[in-house]
Amino acid sequence: MEEKANYCLNCPTKPCATGCPLGNDIPSFIKNIKERNYKKAYNILLKTTVLQSVCGRICPHMKQCRGKCVRGIKGEPVEIGELETFVGDMAIKNQWEINKLEEKDDKKIAIVGGGPAGLTAAAFLRRKGYNVTIYEKHNELGGLLSHGIPEFRLPRGILHNVIEKIINLGINVKYNCVLGKDITMEQLKKEYNAVLLTFGANISAKMGIEGEELKGVYGGNELLENNNHPDYNGKTVVVNGGGNTAMDTSRTINRMGAKKVYVVYRRAREQMPAEQKEIDDAIKEGVEFLFQNNIVKIIGDKYVEKIECIKTELIKVEGETRLKPVNIDGSNYEIPVDYVVMAVGAKPEEEVLETLDLKRNKWGYIETGENNKTSDEKVFCAGDISGQTSTVAWAARSGRNAAENIDKYLKKNCL
Ligand code: SF4
Repeated sequence: MEEKANYCLNCPTKPCATGCPLGNDIPSFIKNIKERNYKKAYNILLKTTVLQSVCGRICPHMKQCRGKCVRGIKGEPVEIGELETFVGDMAIKNQWEINKLEEKDDKKIAIVGGGPAGLTAAAFLRRKGYNVTIYEKHNELGGLLSHGIPEFRLPRGILHNVIEKIINLGINVKYNCVLGKDITMEQLKKEYNAVLLTFGANISAKMGIEGEELKGVYGGNELLENNNHPDYNGKTVVVNGGGNTAMDTSRTINRMGAKKVYVVYRRAREQMPAEQKEIDDAIKEGVEFLFQNNIVKIIGDKYVEKIECIKTELIKVEGETRLKPVNIDGSNYEIPVDYVVMAVGAKPEEEVLETLDLKRNKWGYIETGENNKTSDEKVFCAGDISGQTSTVAWAARSGRNAAENIDKYLKKNCL
């Protein structure tokens, strides 16, 4: 690992850090790996993140820190993710704790949702001395990390250790507790000085095409979250989408014994939102990509039997940064398939949102100001549910920001 660290130039301008959503001080932690000051490297990372072993493994590094590394101009960029993973895993192995409380404060904060935003906010608020309780709808914490990212990308043992370390700061957790069903917002507001909402937006969006209601059409998020799959053995499956959910779903289904897995994406490979490494890995594992193709219809009598696709061409539209896919007339063709998985985006859980008396934006997310405030001054919001960029590091950053803003609010309003 030192060889990888020595490859870093420790640029004083820290271009890599500007690409990190969490603003990790990358040159400094790498410098300490070079000097074998591993615990100091961990403490530097702790200033901005508590998810080192997670982000080191699953962040789209080439779209973030690594993509900004100056080493990448003439060659390979520094392996920042591997170095962060190394430090995070070393902290787990050596049982290095997250640093202790700065002060003690009896004010109580409820956090709804125990995913990356909620866990990060909980850790940073607890380190400020507050009394923090997480309300989690599942019987385990992690959110998307436990229920959306497959084991082959994020080993569960590592994740459990990361979560345990955060909870060991002295954070209370109420499991199997659904907002609006097992506890209401009114109860939370009465019992706590502030409430932070961090439950994600994990309901698979639909395309609105004919046949989407047939049996055998699934949402990628739901398959991963509930880990409740049909039997894929000997079956042909098509996954529609180009993001990381499409990659995770197609690779998971492929590993579960499907005869053939296609990924249909309406733009070209270069425009895919998924990390290039994930696409490479999926191809290596046998997933077939149909770039510049669009599903226009799902055909079957009760059950899915085939899909109708159409080829697309990409055109430049003035004022838009991304090329627009346009269907090519007459290029339609059919593929026999057994299952169709939609991975074309996600939206918030309407049933929960309806129980909250909070202002929403035009896309249905909770309207959240710069300081994480909602339309209720006691209620804050962070992560996907506020409509933020949905990557783990951005969710964690949003959680950290919320912790800072709640701290300011409590110091000003709750003396
Ligand atoms: Fe090291 Fe690359 Fe960051 Fe420069 S940009 S400090 S070489 S990781």
